[in-house]
Amino acid sequence: MIQNVTILGATGTIGLQTLDVMSQHPERFRAFALTANANVQKLFELCEAYSPQYAVMLQEAAAAQLEVKLKAIGSATKVLQGIEALNEVAAHKQVHVVMAAIVGAAGLHPAMAAAKAGKRILLANKETLVMAGNLFMQAVAEGGATLLPIDSEHNAIFQVMPQQRAEHLSDMGVKRVLLTASGGPFKNSRMEELHSVTKAQALNHPNWVMGPKITIDSATMMNKGLEVIEAHWLFNAAPEQIDVVVHPQSIIHSMVEYIDGSVLAQLGNPDMRTPIAYGLGYPDRLQSGVSSLDLLKIGHLDFFSPDQARFPCLRLAYDALKVGGTAPAILNAVNEVAVEAFLAEKIGFMEIAATIESVLNSASIEQVVSVEQLVATDAEARRMAAHCLS
Ligand code: NAD
Ligand code: MG
Repeated sequence: MIQNVTILGATGTIGLQTLDVMSQHPERFRAFALTANANVQKLFELCEAYSPQYAVMLQEAAAAQLEVKLKAIGSATKVLQGIEALNEVAAHKQVHVVMAAIVGAAGLHPAMAAAKAGKRILLANKETLVMAGNLFMQAVAEGGATLLPIDSEHNAIFQVMPQQRAEHLSDMGVKRVLLTASGGPFKNSRMEELHSVTKAQALNHPNWVMGPKITIDSATMMNKGLEVIEAHWLFNAAPEQIDVVVHPQSIIHSMVEYIDGSVLAQLGNPDMRTPIAYGLGYPDRLQSGVSSLDLLKIGHLDFFSPDQARFPCLRLAYDALKVGGTAPAILNAVNEVAVEAFLAEKIGFMEIAATIESVLNSASIEQVVSVEQLVATDAEARRMAAHCLS
């Protein structure tokens, strides 16, 4: 049976790579709905190429423009607009698979909608788990959804965990998980240099081509911090059971250590089409277009421990996880505001971590009870961050 796929964030780097893998298997997958924030031209081109049933734009004016352009070419794609429409195409009864690849907190609502509707969710949007891990995992369980992590580290861990899942890692003989980190473009930079690095330098990731927000997160290592929180929820791992290892080649995507001393790793070229193909095909393996790993050419694999003094974001994320409640949602919201300010060249690189720390120190942390509460927490944290930066 052909699978109908909704891609939330179709115009982004993950969205486009998902379409690349799907188009290698036209007998298995069809684009049912493609969504974007405001990039009319890109979504128009995707509609021309893939003829989805629905195209959704968050912005009203963008949706109107897209509709005009699609009418002009006689396209049958229906254009919808707004957050409700994103939720609708994520939960639509004809949809089998939802790729959650919106960037940031904006991805939370449609990912929740897909979980409640019991879809196969390919989760790239790690911010959903950082903000609302307990509520999202509960919605997945109650909705009967299948959750497949797409973040390369978590996809790697998923691949090397026992097939028979138990509630606790110890019941599966697992001692800890090891998340690998590339270290980003500044892994060898001195502290004094980090204060004055430019936007262009921070956007120049050594191994991965990604959207701007996650690329800056990789440079500050907040990306790894968010991934520690993501791993906590996905694998029910305590903070002490999650370690980070800097591995500059990004060939080992992550590892699981068992109590008998075995360490299982998943390796491959740094290309997101591997985890995407794994998520789309699971439990089958699909061709992804990724080239074979040439270990002889790579020659050696290196490992370092992360420097939390130069990369305080990693420590802040561990601390937020340990504090729990709304702390990770606040961390995430302030990070989004600070990264935006850095990308707008309004603040320096090290001010990203400083802003997060300052807001976390003064915000009140609550138990998480509802998505509405998290939305309010997110908004308040953004206000505090903006105030801090003004
Ligand atoms: P991107 O910036 O390239 O694309 C983001 C997509 O989200 C675009 O389609 C954009 O139109 C849409 N979008 C942005 N803001 C929106 C909003 N407010 N409402 C609705 N849609 C909105 O980002 P990306 O690199 O593809 O990353 C997407 C997600 O996947 C992020 O959460 C990121 O952390 C995660 N991820 C990405 C990679 C990667 O290699 N790019 C790897 C692991 C995880
Ligand atoms: Mg990752």
